[in-house]
Amino acid sequence: MDFRLSPEHAAFQREVNQFVDELLPTGGGDARDEPEFAAVARRELAKRGWLALPWPEEYGGKGASPMQQMLFNEIMSYRRVPSFSMGVAWVGPSLMLYGTDEQKARFLPRIASGEDVWCTLYSEPGAGSDLAALQTRAVREGDDYVINGQKIWTSGAHRSDWGWLAARTDPDAPKHRGISLFCLPMDTPGISIRPLVNMTGDHEFNEVFFDNVRVPAAQRVGEEHRGWYALAVALDFERSSIGATSAARRMLEDLVTYLKAQPAPVSDANRMRLADCAVAVQVLRFMGYRIAAEQEKTRIAPTLPAQMAKLFASELNQRITTVSMQALGLDAQAHPAAAATERWTHGFLRAVANTIEGGTSEIQRNVIATRGLGMPRG
Ligand SMILES: Cc1cc2nc3c(=O)[nH]c(=O)nc-3n(C[C@H](O)[C@H](O)[C@H](O)COP(=O)(O)OP(=O)(O)OC[C@H]3O[C@@H](n4cnc5c(N)ncnc54)[C@H](O)[C@@H]3O)c2cc1C
Repeated sequence: MDFRLSPEHAAFQREVNQFVDELLPTGGGDARDEPEFAAVARRELAKRGWLALPWPEEYGGKGASPMQQMLFNEIMSYRRVPSFSMGVAWVGPSLMLYGTDEQKARFLPRIASGEDVWCTLYSEPGAGSDLAALQTRAVREGDDYVINGQKIWTSGAHRSDWGWLAARTDPDAPKHRGISLFCLPMDTPGISIRPLVNMTGDHEFNEVFFDNVRVPAAQRVGEEHRGWYALAVALDFERSSIGATSAARRMLEDLVTYLKAQPAPVSDANRMRLADCAVAVQVLRFMGYRIAAEQEKTRIAPTLPAQMAKLFASELNQRITTVSMQALGLDAQAHPAAAATERWTHGFLRAVANTIEGGTSEIQRNVIATRGLGMPRG
């Protein structure tokens, strides 16, 4: 097995790194996930066709291979350039499979150009892991559907132009059979967005309420009542987004650099923990490479390895941020806003959500045990 990159891949890596050098005035390393910087990064990435890197050129992408996408994601996450977009990761790929020609022509180029930002309207107060239990209703009235109900945890709804919505069109059918998917502008009359502030104090997600919201039937994606099947594929796209594995590596490297510069020695226990994290960071990196290598051959995202990587990455993030709190000691906890340690305090609090967002760790383990190991369902 040859782990070296091909000359083309190495050249691509250099090109992307050079782009980031130019994008970040500090030469890299200080970019944070701030909306203003995210908008600049999105615009610059879109100019190069890199926002939707793996998409076909006709839709504004570069038709990049999975390995290129992996290398790109690695650099973006290591250098903390916000390049992720729900529109690119799962709305667009789902539209390519299930959308009409008119929908593809209307939505895809604007996602790839960064003009339209999308949010995902799936979860409800009574439907998260059991998503098929969703109750938001879409009732056909002439050429429109009328939407009523509530969504929750909608990331970025307050900054999105369009929503990707799952709603119930047939309340009498078994729960997986009466769901349809819709695209709708987030400023449609009848939509109200209420912020939910998380425990880091950030406003990332929202509650979204629908009060007699009219959506043209032409904005339904795929067959009526058959949305669950497209939704399952969209969830696979979501969970198999590869390569953001180097955020953990970067966090660990920054922590080690910071600790080495402190006058107080790092305790034996913490050195052991840091060493364990360093091993896990390498394991995660090779999990990502394996997914990309498999995808190069089959062109299909290998769902199970991707779910394993999602589970491992989110728990590793929590491990590293927990070790950061242990190693930084009471200072970081007593003065959470202290400039020198704020990144890790914030990271520790934010990491709690990693094992919930995009499917909880319990659900991931269930899937690995049943689909991967062939264990009977409990
Ligand atoms: C930061 C963040 C961003 C998010 N962004 C979005 C978004 O943009 N759009 C969107 O639609 N949703 C979003 N979500 C919602 C997310 O998808 C759900 O929170 C997640 O699917 C879990 O659903 P729930 O919160 O309803 O928990 P529940 O499903 O109620 O689960 C509660 C607990 O029970 C466990 N559990 C449930 N079922 C089982 C089972 N069968 N076996 C074993 N254990 C089980 C879970 O693992 C969990 O520990 C986001 C969540 C977070 C934290």
